[in-house]
Amino acid sequence: MCDSLYVKANGELPCWDDVGEQLILRTIDEQALSSKKEQQLFDFPTLVNIRKAFLEVREPYQHLCSKCAVRGHGTVTSLYPKIIRVLHIEPSYLCQLACPQCVEPKLRLQLKKPPYNMSLSFYHKLLQQLQDEEIATIRLVHFEGRGEPLLNN
Ligand code: SF4
Repeated sequence: MCDSLYVKANGELPCWDDVGEQLILRTIDEQALSSKKEQQLFDFPTLVNIRKAFLEVREPYQHLCSKCAVRGHGTVTSLYPKIIRVLHIEPSYLCQLACPQCVEPKLRLQLKKPPYNMSLSFYHKLLQQLQDEEIATIRLVHFEGRGEPLLNN
């Protein structure tokens, strides 16, 4: 979470995709993106506090970070980095499969609010907002999530 961003199909921004996925840091509003009234995406206070915590060699969410598989995967160099190492996008939350470690099919639609597919217009506005925030580079865009990306057609 110090140098990357994970955006779910419905605009939620969780604390990455392991145990932190249950912690929704905020939800992006497409209308606010359109009217350029959405708050900063890569430097909003909660994300800056996560970076600050790791810079001070402490865990922002001890009850989660201590169990988190991605703990230590990112690097923290600044409170306000201008390079996104991974932009993790969940194209679709829907899936026709039932992998044991994933979302239970009968609970899938109860656990998350729609939209279940990220619209192309939302994705474009997200990139435009990051450009407006003067993000210099997005090193990798990673399309994956709790659903089958190819169901977003
Ligand atoms: S280590 Fe902590 S801050 Fe980092 S993704 Fe996991 S829960 Fe979130």
